[in-house]
Order: sequence, then structure tokens, then C-alpha cells
Amino acid sequence: MGFDTSGLLPLSDALQGMLEQLACCCDSEQLPLPAALGRVLASDIASPLAVPPFDNSAMDGYAVRLADLAAGTPLIMAGKAFAGQPYQGEWPAGHCVRIMTGAPVPAGTDAVVMQEETLADGDRITFLAQPEPGQNIRRAGSDIGKGACVLPAGTRLTPREMPLLASLGVATVAVRRPLKVAIFSTGDELKPVGAPLAHGDIYDSNRYGVRAMLARMGCDCLDLGIIPDDPAQLRAAFIRADAEADVLITTGGVSVGEADFTKQLLDELGEIGFWKLAIKPGKPFAFGRLPRAWFFGLPGNPVSAMVTFDQLVQPALAKLAGQRFERPLQLQAITAEPLKKSPGRLDFQRGILSQGPNGLEVRSTGSQDSAVFSSLSRANCYIVLERERGRVAAGETVTVEPFGGLLL
Ligand code: AMP
Ligand code: MG
Repeated sequence: MGFDTSGLLPLSDALQGMLEQLACCCDSEQLPLPAALGRVLASDIASPLAVPPFDNSAMDGYAVRLADLAAGTPLIMAGKAFAGQPYQGEWPAGHCVRIMTGAPVPAGTDAVVMQEETLADGDRITFLAQPEPGQNIRRAGSDIGKGACVLPAGTRLTPREMPLLASLGVATVAVRRPLKVAIFSTGDELKPVGAPLAHGDIYDSNRYGVRAMLARMGCDCLDLGIIPDDPAQLRAAFIRADAEADVLITTGGVSVGEADFTKQLLDELGEIGFWKLAIKPGKPFAFGRLPRAWFFGLPGNPVSAMVTFDQLVQPALAKLAGQRFERPLQLQAITAEPLKKSPGRLDFQRGILSQGPNGLEVRSTGSQDSAVFSSLSRANCYIVLERERGRVAAGETVTVEPFGGLLL
């Protein structure tokens, strides 16, 4: 694949190397707005309307002309304007119009005075404060101008975007079809949940983690189950995944030793690079292409599989799905305890971030062995320790990345 695999590959190089090769592979389709939740916009949405579409009142109160107020005498109420029922009568000098929130302001209105700043005696309204010009009027187009880009292509539609699009009268949207991702776990020792375990067996946990993350990303998942360490069965699974999906993600069998026939098969079927990444957890990682589909081979250790998916596969899948992707914020925190670390790899330790008396504080979840899954489930952030950093003493400042998106 044109990468130097002699040494350990930095995460940023691996990411850049992958992203440069990938492009969106999902066609677009037109869907009714409610059905588009979770989908990725295929094109920019330009507003067909000004929002709000007309000048309207931000308060329940009285629409006034400043010249009428200048006399300092009470104004007579000429009539009422409701949301959906504009005032259409005459508006003689010395009069005001009772107006409700959202009602169009009558032509000539300079300001709306909120009800609480008035005294009403029948139809005679006394104004207790002098309004500023434009006060409590929401101007047409002040939120969104007609034709303005409200959402760029690549936006994944969440509940926050639905009312925005509805407010513009958008009934259907062009969205990408979901990315189709085949997955399987490799290993003779793996059993699905619900099956009894023989001595030496373990439950296949990775597939459940990977499936959950794919669901969060809005991908369609083709789950091919557990494939034993058997070349014929592996070959059949690779061929099926390649025929039916855009992407194949496997876990296990990419480290040295056991990886050998996986590597042999993949070399024969496609063009796959086996990388040793300079990150911990997650050293072994494979990336490349089968005849049709892209391939990601995650390490077998459960924590490594989750972390490499989160850090490397997630941005790659987002690009294939046409989705704009931003990593979660990184923050600075004080570590409340020493952290074990040796120089050489970028560490994604699992931590618990909390608000301390002097700002953000982070603690380790305990053993950082990549087979210790509880370290991930108790954590609410990564503690990201730079590649060349050694042991960290209590009280030092460290970078933390709170779990968002996939791992929350
Ligand atoms: P491998 O990369 O296949 O050599 O696996 C490394 C370690 O991860 C071994 O201890 C495996 O038993 C374990 N492992 C591999 N796949 C899974 C899986 N799907 N679920 C849980 N553990 C796994
Ligand atoms: Mg294995």
C-alpha cells in the first residue's frame, strides 16, 4: 500500500494514508423528512424561505407607533392581532393594537410593548416605559435569509435538524443510502452469546461492540458471525462480504503468528497492508481493498478492537458514507494519580473525568491491559498520552478526550 511498515506507524499517518484513498461510495435518494433521521445529506440545503417569513411579535403586548406615544397620553386599543390571524382593520392615530406572540405586526408598527409594561383600563392603555424602536419585533429573515445555506452536504440528520428543516417547509431531502458493512469475528475459541463454553472457549465480544458502533453511525450491518481459523471458511467469508457489502471489518487474526494465513488469503484476494501502529492499545491493524470492498482488520483484543474502530475506522467509514466528521473535543485535566506509561506509542488510556475543586480531574480506570474490558466500560474518557511521554506523576496536566459519539 506504499506505507513504511518497518517501524511503528504513527496514528496520524495511518489516518491520512487511509483517508486519501477513500471517497464517498453511497448514492443518494430522496426521502420524506421523517424517514431521513440519521441519514447524511447528499447536498446543501438552501432555505426556500426567509425565517421568520414576516415581521412578527416576540411578546404578548401592544403594537405601537412611537409618534403616538410621544404625546404621553394613553392610547386606545384599535383591535387585536393573533398568531395566524393578522389585524386587518384601520389603525387611526392615537391608537395601539393588542398583539400576541407570533402574530404579524401591523404595517407601521415601530415597537411592541410587553403587556407587563402597560396598564389597561378598558380600551385605554397606559404605557409605563418608553420602548426602543424595533423592540420585541422579530424581523423577517432575521434567523435565516431566503436562499441561505442552512445545512451543508455531509450533515448527519439528528433530532436537532428535523424542526429546522420543517420550519423551512422542506418535505423531502436528498440523503445518502446507508453504508453497508459486513463484519465477522475470527477465532476457533469464540462462541456466540447464549451458547455453552467448553474449556478454552470465550465469548465473542468484539462483534457486539462493532455492531453497536456501526448502528450508532447509521450503517447497515451484514453480520457473518464467527468464522473459525480455517482457510476455506475464511476465504468463503471474505468472498461473500466482498460481493455483498461496501466494507468488511473483521476482528482477530491480524497479529503476527496466527495472522499468517489470513494475510496469505488477503494478499491473494486483494491488496491489504498489515500495519503496526504506534498506538496503545491497538498495535496490529490491517487496511486495504478486496476486489470491490474496503477492508479493515481490527486486533482481536477487545479493548484494542474498540479503540482502533473509534480512532481509525470511524473517520474512514464517515468518509465512505459521505458524512462530515469531527473528532470530539480534547481538554486538559490534572491527573489525580500517577499513570504508567513507557515512551514509544501514543496511549489511549481509559479514564474517569470529573469536576474537582480546582478544575477538571482525571483518574485511571485501573488495569490498562487491552484484554481488560471493564477498563472501558467504567471510563468516560480517553487519557491521551503523547508518544514520547514516559511515566506521568500525580498532579501533571494531561489531555483527555471525553467519550462522545460512538462510545457514550
Ligand atoms: P488474535 O488477534 O486473533 O490473536 O486475538 C488476540 C486476543 O483477543 C486473543 O486472546 C483472542 O482470544 C482475543 N479475541 C479475538 N477475537 C475476539 C473476540 N471476537 N471477542 C473476544 N476476544 C477475542
Ligand atoms: Mg485469533
